[in-house]
Amino acid sequence: MTEENNLLKKNLERIKEDLDDLQRYVDDLTMFLPLAFCTVNPLNLILGVNQSFQTLTGYDEMESIGNSIDFLFLEKSKVQELKEEMPVQKDSIQKEFVLLKKNNEKVPVSVSTLARRDNNDNFLGYFLVIADISETKEFQKKLEERVSEKTKELEIKNVEVTESRLALLNILEDVEDAWKKAEEEKNKTMAIITNFIDGLMVFDRDNVVRLINPKIEKFFYISSEEVINKSLNELKDSKNMLPLIESLSESSLFQNGNGSTDQFRAELVNKDNLTLDISEVSIINEDEKIGSLVVVHDITREKMIEAMKSEFVSIAAHQLRTPLSAIKWTMRMLLDGDLGELNEDQKGLVKKTYSSNERMISLINDLLNVTRIEEGRYLYQLELSHIEDVVAPLIESYKTEVERRGIKFNINIPKKKTPKIAVDAEKITLVIQNFIENAMKYTNQGGVMELNISYNKEKDEIEVSVKDSGVGIPKDQHGRVFTKFFRAKNIIKMETEGSGLGLFICKNIVEAHKGRVWFESEEGVGSTFYFSLPVRSQEEFDDFLKKL
Ligand code: ADP
Repeated sequence: MTEENNLLKKNLERIKEDLDDLQRYVDDLTMFLPLAFCTVNPLNLILGVNQSFQTLTGYDEMESIGNSIDFLFLEKSKVQELKEEMPVQKDSIQKEFVLLKKNNEKVPVSVSTLARRDNNDNFLGYFLVIADISETKEFQKKLEERVSEKTKELEIKNVEVTESRLALLNILEDVEDAWKKAEEEKNKTMAIITNFIDGLMVFDRDNVVRLINPKIEKFFYISSEEVINKSLNELKDSKNMLPLIESLSESSLFQNGNGSTDQFRAELVNKDNLTLDISEVSIINEDEKIGSLVVVHDITREKMIEAMKSEFVSIAAHQLRTPLSAIKWTMRMLLDGDLGELNEDQKGLVKKTYSSNERMISLINDLLNVTRIEEGRYLYQLELSHIEDVVAPLIESYKTEVERRGIKFNINIPKKKTPKIAVDAEKITLVIQNFIENAMKYTNQGGVMELNISYNKEKDEIEVSVKDSGVGIPKDQHGRVFTKFFRAKNIIKMETEGSGLGLFICKNIVEAHKGRVWFESEEGVGSTFYFSLPVRSQEEFDDFLKKL
């Protein structure tokens, strides 16, 4: 028995040692557990605390043990709820509290509790674990702030998006309106183009046909499918279009593609013998040429009336010329004393009549020249000559006349003979005479005139100009200077005589020689009238004659 007792005692001692070991192990474990931990009895009094508990709360073991858990937390009513729950609690629970530290600092914590029971399920108290969640809270707060910021931003964005959407919708409505209006305008324009009395053709900037109207189809016996989207060059293959395309190809507007606002004009006769006036203008948008518009106008009727008028003038002028010549010779005889000597008064009167008659003859000659030009009967007797030889016979007589009027007359002719040009001497003399007579008529006493002849090597042209320091031509009338019957406003009172036909005749003569005529003038300062004729070799001259 004693042996048995001894064995039992030994066993008991070993078990006690084991239990002590276990107790130490649990104590060590709880002591060094990083979470604040305390054991509480059923009366809610603290029985033990670990190191983390002391660190977190600031209370040491002595200050904590034996106290109710109330002093640890700010929310007393919540603590009360916990106390009531614990005896009946089955699982661990977790709540958030505000920990009141010894130094009065308040820290948000998460509190987990687990009830302890014996084998008979009697409530023995509980474990209470406190975890500092201030960082989590801070993080959560920051997160919430960020979320709220972002939400606000999103709300603002949302408002902006809504506003933009509305604005877009408005713009869309405006665009739709504008589109409708543009469509209406387009339809109107198309209706005008389709029913236009003239033929219309629109080329784009690459000289490709983009639009033609039915009148063009009718004038040139073509259909729009044949020409639309074809370039000027491709259209040359169409026999019916060739005459039009050839005259358009001469237009500088089609060649240099710049934003020039010049207008090109030409005339041609179509298959139906209609005379068509072709004009071409650049379509300019923001200083840039974006295409060309060709207008084809039927001028057959105007041409016919013009021809009739011209024929009438021609007949009338011819009819007048014979009696005027008769008057001229009778006056001459009277003046020369062939019919007996006249006294001074009689002589004066006859002289006046004689010069009026001369003016009438010159007017009739001008009219006849104009009608001949218009009827294409202004025949030329061309020869290869030096311009100096044409001008020479004029100079002496005009120099005397100009200087008699108190105007200085300078003549600049190159010493070396200039190259030959193809001229009808009589006609070119008429041009120079006209220039000189105008300069003389429209320059007051004390003025200066200058006749210049020069050879422009670069252009291979002979240039003749007559410059004066006379009354000039008002700028707003420059465009009409070479037209028939033009007389500028500023000279009508000053010089009553004049038909306004001289420069028109000059222009036609020079252009028939394939030359150019132009002028510069400033009112009150003076004018310079120029013409230039191309220099020609014998071969070129023969060629030129053949083409006439
Ligand atoms: P006109 O018989 O009237 O001189 P022209 O055809 O020769 O007819 O000239 C037409 C018009 O041009 C003149 O009436 C005049 O207004 C203007 N003109 C021509 N030459 C000059 C000039 N040298 N100076 C000023 N005006 C001129």
